[in-house]
Amino acid sequence: MPVPKEIQSDEKEVRVLWSDGHRSVYTNKGLRAECPCALCKGERGIMGELYMQPTRASIPEDVRVVNHTLVGRYAIAFSWSDGHQTGIYPFDYLAGLCECKECRDRKVADREREM
Ligand SMILES: [Zn+2]
Ligand SMILES: [Zn+2]
Repeated sequence: MPVPKEIQSDEKEVRVLWSDGHRSVYTNKGLRAECPCALCKGERGIMGELYMQPTRASIPEDVRVVNHTLVGRYAIAFSWSDGHQTGIYPFDYLAGLCECKECRDRKVADREREM
């Protein structure tokens, strides 16, 4: 499992250099929208019903990362300019969200294979 070696963020995007040499790029809003915390994704009850609505619609257009901290050896916690900071992104989840051309092309290919 690759781990992040370098994390950079600016007003547009977040860039992660992984230990395997891959360079991931994420748009700020895209990464914020994929926040895996219960508040953002909503929580599902035992029957799978959504009893807490996601707050995705309220994400500001110009949201950006203001701080990030490593959580143990498996995840990164981002603090966002909209005050949100409960999202913890496990490395494998973060790697799966990569928006670089290489990863996007691979995801398209995977989808085509499934069809
Ligand atoms: Zn969240
Ligand atoms: Zn990638």
